[in-house]
Amino acid sequence: MGKKGHLTVIAGPMFAGKTSKLITLYRVFTKNGFKVLCFKAEGAEVKNRRGKTNSHDERNLPVIFIENKKPQPILNIVKKENPDKTLIDSVQFFPDSPTKKVVFKLLEQGVDVVLNGLLYDYNRKYFRLMHELFDLADERMELFAICERCGARAKYTERISGGTKRLEATTKAKYIAVCGRHHRIFKGNK
Ligand SMILES: [Zn+2]
Repeated sequence: MGKKGHLTVIAGPMFAGKTSKLITLYRVFTKNGFKVLCFKAEGAEVKNRRGKTNSHDERNLPVIFIENKKPQPILNIVKKENPDKTLIDSVQFFPDSPTKKVVFKLLEQGVDVVLNGLLYDYNRKYFRLMHELFDLADERMELFAICERCGARAKYTERISGGTKRLEATTKAKYIAVCGRHHRIFKGNK
């Protein structure tokens, strides 16, 4: 049996710098000679295409887009390319139990996994996958944003326009970061 991989989980609301943190780690890892692959969930048409994702502060990260309903191709790609580290951006867009299996498999194979995601949806309900992975992580980082209503540390994401689906891309909905005192639950556009 080889060495198990190390799981790092970065949690926080939107605008807390979660993607930025992944980009920083990506740069440090690659500079130090590690081979790194990054994955991100996208719609069904992506076919494991390579591209880039942007952080809110306009830096970018090279990623492989994976169909959001099926995280399993991550295992095939990792097997083929044999990276030292696997990064996953916005893990809450992937389904709970298949994604957990993928992460555990990577760790069993000795691949380090660093992933980020939202702990809470806009209703302040836990994303189960992120909540469980956060609990199981070898290393946890909780990042905070700034409340747009009072300037305090913001732990939650509030939807201020768009539909009421649990996961809605920023192209269809608008969000702000807020603290617990100022969080309101969006009821949909009238
Ligand atoms: Zn506040």
